[in-house]
Amino acid sequence: MSENKPLFCQAHAGIRSLDPYEPGKPIADLQRELGLASIIKLASNENPLGTVPAARRVLADWQGDASRYPDGNGFALKQKLAARHDIDSSRITLGNGSNDVLELVARIFLGPGRNAVFSEYSFAVYPIATRGVNGTPRVVPALPADSDMPHGHDLQRMAASIDSHTGVVFIASPNNPTGTWLQPDAIERFLATVPADVVVVLDEAYVEYQDAAGRLDSRTLLERHPNLVVMRTFSKIFGMAGLRVGYALSSSTVADLLNRIRQPFNVNEIAQQCACAALDDMDFVVRSYTHNAQQRDALRAALQQRGLQCLPSQANFLTFDCAQPTTPLFDALLQEGVIVRPLASYGMPQHLRVTIGTEEENDIFLQALDRVLKRS
Ligand code: PMP
Repeated sequence: MSENKPLFCQAHAGIRSLDPYEPGKPIADLQRELGLASIIKLASNENPLGTVPAARRVLADWQGDASRYPDGNGFALKQKLAARHDIDSSRITLGNGSNDVLELVARIFLGPGRNAVFSEYSFAVYPIATRGVNGTPRVVPALPADSDMPHGHDLQRMAASIDSHTGVVFIASPNNPTGTWLQPDAIERFLATVPADVVVVLDEAYVEYQDAAGRLDSRTLLERHPNLVVMRTFSKIFGMAGLRVGYALSSSTVADLLNRIRQPFNVNEIAQQCACAALDDMDFVVRSYTHNAQQRDALRAALQQRGLQCLPSQANFLTFDCAQPTTPLFDALLQEGVIVRPLASYGMPQHLRVTIGTEEENDIFLQALDRVLKRS
């Protein structure tokens, strides 16, 4: 509760009840607190290979005029995305990160008296966006720990949770913080059961890390389901988290609604130019995918060797069971200069999530983990 109660109570009940987003601890914070010379951060699912080189070149060479507003319609970037996804540019909405577009969806389709259906152990922004507009989160229990996809979305239960007050269903594949994913045919079957006036957000922030065989043809699904909104981001595999560019693919009706409330200049000029350049640098995407797949396998094997069970993951992180409360482990790892993500706030107090780093970072993490576990 805030120090100033009357002022705090001016906020609506949804905002008063929400738990603020906790970002991964920044390296600079830990440096300030502990004065450590060497710190590695494997806490925010950033690309360990850095920013896509084509975007780095744009940043280095930028001679633009920052006194001008950016292109509010993002014409050039939308043209490139339209070609990439074979979709009309009128069906693309750009965001200041995909987080921005998630919130726009909530503002349009949620509100008092409306609920948002999403899974237990899914992205923390779904409840924040829902409560932020005084909507009601309807959290559906995840698949049990002994299922094929432990902690994954239970689409059947999610479908059964939709009622006449549901405005939005949020699903993520691969999902954060679990790394679990949904089979394309399961998503198709699910969409077929969702009423046409309920928006389904399919959050694909990590999709480029997924094996090709498991990937969905979202383009075809968008044709069949005008209530589907697919979210993508440049933050993850393109290594542009600091630039903040994401987008939604949807029907033109939904895109029109999103555009009505979007900030006129929500994506800055440099970010737009970097994103345009990034789309011509698919070699980097392939390299990042390959690096991630190899290192994810290696890290999973190393964790399993230590008796630490990992959830299945098709993302750029692994979530593993420490069989003990992780807050002390997280703190001890910080002392070692290693930042990971404890998941107590996600209702997983015995799990840690670690982003796949470079081979060297993963080794440093494993060595620090060994020291910390020995002391625990
Ligand atoms: N969706 C998921 C599942 C995420 O994990 C994240 C970032 N952590 C986002 C959306 C938002 O990413 P951004 O706003 O950087 O595009």
